[in-house]
Amino acid sequence: RAKTEARGSLRYFTPSLQEAAQTRAKLASALPAAMREGQIFLLYQPLIDLQSEAVIGCEALARWKHPELGMVSPVQFIAVAEETGLIGELGLYILHRAIRDFAGAIPDAGSKNLTLSVNLSFGQFAESEFVDSIRGALDATGFPPERLELELTETMLALEPERASETTRALSALGCKLAIDDFGTGYSSLAQLRHFSVDYLKIDRSFVVDLEGGEGPQAVVRAAIAMAHSLGMAIIAEGVETLEQAEFLRSAGAEVVQGYLYGKPMPIEDFAAMAGEIAKPLAGYRPTHSASRRL
Ligand code: C2E
Ligand code: MG
Ligand code: MG
Ligand code: MG
Repeated sequence: RAKTEARGSLRYFTPSLQEAAQTRAKLASALPAAMREGQIFLLYQPLIDLQSEAVIGCEALARWKHPELGMVSPVQFIAVAEETGLIGELGLYILHRAIRDFAGAIPDAGSKNLTLSVNLSFGQFAESEFVDSIRGALDATGFPPERLELELTETMLALEPERASETTRALSALGCKLAIDDFGTGYSSLAQLRHFSVDYLKIDRSFVVDLEGGEGPQAVVRAAIAMAHSLGMAIIAEGVETLEQAEFLRSAGAEVVQGYLYGKPMPIEDFAAMAGEIAKPLAGYRPTHSASRRL
């Protein structure tokens, strides 16, 4: 039988190994209706400028509330969509929904200089109509391209570097901002990244957690920040949970942070209420150092 594991306040469905294939098939067949029926929705996590401490944007994070299985992790259902060829459709659904949510809740995003970050996945990026589909979404919604930040991963750039370089250039030409997500978890070096036109480097949460390990891990993060800056990229640090981490990152020259210290992923209305304001770190927040805090 499938078991459900407690993870913080939410329960994620986690199948056993034998059930995994069966579950994938079940999720794959349920996915199209889930999109139509609004079972898949987005939460938004604030991004904070370390100098001004203002909330300058948010990242859209997908959620699926399955009627029987409960909350399904985006890591799992994005993988299912990739395997079953539904990723193009799901990716577009997410992009349109994020733009609609954000523009609807924050009509003055431009004057507040707020950005919306959307994750892209491998299969989306690999499709030949990919750039056209982004252009189409911008045209259809009238959303200002410079407010949209697209998150790519190292793997997406590394596999076919020449095509990827063309694609990133085309996206920049549309006016969108580009970020490399989860930096440090893939196999690319910063030297390889210089071939791509990218605005932000997102340092993966695992490096932020490691900062408590002292000078070694701190030196790694300082080096990544210095190299990114020398290539003209700004830094977003992911998974910041403590004031000490935020202080270190500020002193090391990182521009932007994102993490539970400033806010978990939340409904767009809640984000709209804090957008443009000075961020208040959560008083008394205590990280648990376990994976159990993921929302
Ligand atoms: P990601 O893009 O690196 O997103 C950051 C993840 O870290 C999110 O997990 C977020 O909830 C979590 N996080 C943020 N701050 C903290 C913190 O301080 N502590 C801890 N423990 N976690 C933190 P989430 O929402 O479960 O998403 C996981 C991954 O699933 C994302 O990683 C992304 O790779 C993928 N994903 C989520 N939504 C989408 C989507 O709309 N499209 C695509 N293609 N992928 C998505
Ligand atoms: Mg991301
Ligand atoms: Mg990330
Ligand atoms: Mg990450």
